[in-house]
Amino acid sequence: MPDVTLLDDPDSLWLDPSRRERVNIPPVPPPEQSPEESVKNFRPVFLGYSEEQAIIEATRCIHCPKPEPCIVACPLHNDIPTALLAIEERRYEDAANIFRATSNLPEICGRLCPQEILCEGSCTVGGYDRPVNIGKLEAFCSDWQRERQSFPRPQLAPPSGRRVAIVGSGPAGLAVAEELTKLGHAVVVYEDWPLPGGLLRYGIPSFKLDKHIVNEKIAYLESLGIRFVCHTRVGQDIPFDDLYRQYDAVFLGIGAPMSRHIQLPGEDLQGVYQAKEFLARGNVPLDELPAWMRKPLQVGERVVVIGGGDTAVDCVRTARRLQVQQGITNGSVVNYYRGTLFEMRAREEEYAHARAEGVHYEFLATPVRFIGDEQGRVRQIEMQRMRSKPSDQPQRKPSRLRIPIPGSNFIVPADTVVLAIGYEGDPLIPNQVPVLKTTAPGIFKVESEETGRTTLEGIFAAGDDVHGADLIVTAVAAGRFVARAIDEYLRTKNG
Ligand SMILES: Cc1cc2nc3c(=O)[nH]c(=O)nc-3n(C[C@H](O)[C@H](O)[C@H](O)COP(=O)(O)OP(=O)(O)OC[C@H]3O[C@@H](n4cnc5c(N)ncnc54)[C@H](O)[C@@H]3O)c2cc1C
Repeated sequence: MPDVTLLDDPDSLWLDPSRRERVNIPPVPPPEQSPEESVKNFRPVFLGYSEEQAIIEATRCIHCPKPEPCIVACPLHNDIPTALLAIEERRYEDAANIFRATSNLPEICGRLCPQEILCEGSCTVGGYDRPVNIGKLEAFCSDWQRERQSFPRPQLAPPSGRRVAIVGSGPAGLAVAEELTKLGHAVVVYEDWPLPGGLLRYGIPSFKLDKHIVNEKIAYLESLGIRFVCHTRVGQDIPFDDLYRQYDAVFLGIGAPMSRHIQLPGEDLQGVYQAKEFLARGNVPLDELPAWMRKPLQVGERVVVIGGGDTAVDCVRTARRLQVQQGITNGSVVNYYRGTLFEMRAREEEYAHARAEGVHYEFLATPVRFIGDEQGRVRQIEMQRMRSKPSDQPQRKPSRLRIPIPGSNFIVPADTVVLAIGYEGDPLIPNQVPVLKTTAPGIFKVESEETGRTTLEGIFAAGDDVHGADLIVTAVAAGRFVARAIDEYLRTKNG
């Protein structure tokens, strides 16, 4: 094992013999189900590192001089090098606690963060070989601790006598709930879906995140005294004003739950789904769904998914599994995207899984209309090819980069279509409370992401309902900041 006392001088980085020894250790690929196997089930594809594998992979960290780029790149600023050293020294519990000191969901972020653009994207070892598999190591040590000892119980501050309502139980709401409870405040979480978890339960498929991890986290939060009131859409089932009057503060963590509509002819045909419904019905057990969704999802032989983000990849992989489970042996799943592969927002890792599981990709093509039969079922899609728009301006969005090619239309067969073209905020609450200002429909205006103070005193917001659809880790990071701001507000509030 290489020496761990490394020089703290940036110039010595590659001169340090111990570091040279570390970068020469071959990477340990994360163990996974084979694509032939994974497409037959909804179990997680990532199988988890063994202790031996984790130790070798952790030893590849060269412990860069400060400021360590991986810590800087992590929105939660997890102390990654210290945690990896603990793994290397077989102190797995210490490693987990280092992640837990700055993160409420390390077992989830370890699996689902786009590490390639965050910690691993800035890992110095990446300039030499594959970056250290930081995410999978975070998942390894936090699983190790949770499975053997459950979640460590924090010291709770004495009760403050203050009550906080949290609307939404996604990563932002869960982080705020946990932090405020540790600070001694009584927390009640209101959730629209039948069970808590937000997109962790009702969006992200089980083959990326086993739901027992979400269930265990919720059970742990309940054991701290947090109460979840589900099946309750604030603004519809109970007025927002009730919460405003009954609680000392309200946190809005409602995400960006509205599917963006494509607004094309035939969007309402049978067999055309919004990604939100398709993923929930395709992945979540029927008894955990709202009554109107409790019907098994039948896919056809020709599934077409429209979109280029993580949601589209989750949909194509769900569709492949459903085809296999429903005995469709000669079916196809095709993902059409209006931009190029380079512009796709989906994670490279997930795209590679989708390809390996048999999904076909078509780029630079967009739908024009959905064509149905006499029974009103979708049968075909008219597509159109796209090309680059000449521009002097650097453009990022494919919508601004691409223009349709006249006369390039073509027809593709489709009996199931899934629209995965993005999510938007829900204007329900701001429409009822006009003093709550927004920057876009359902996206709350806040003083700053650090305080999350909305334009109504005592009401705070963070997560996707502030910066639009984003990431788990950014929702958790914002939630932690805002919990501190709520605590300060409660401690200085009169009455
Ligand atoms: C299909 C899909 C896959 C994704 N995959 C990844 C991934 O791999 N990695 C990653 O980092 N991010 C991923 N994301 C993004 C990530 O899930 C979100 O950024 C994150 O969940 C946002 O957290 P949040 O708490 O702000 O909102 P959400 O998780 O959306 O939670 C908001 C909750 O509020 C509830 N709610 C809304 N309105 C009300 C109301 N009026 N009353 C009561 N409750 C209400 C909703 O039902 C929901 O449960 C994915 C998103 C999707 C859609």
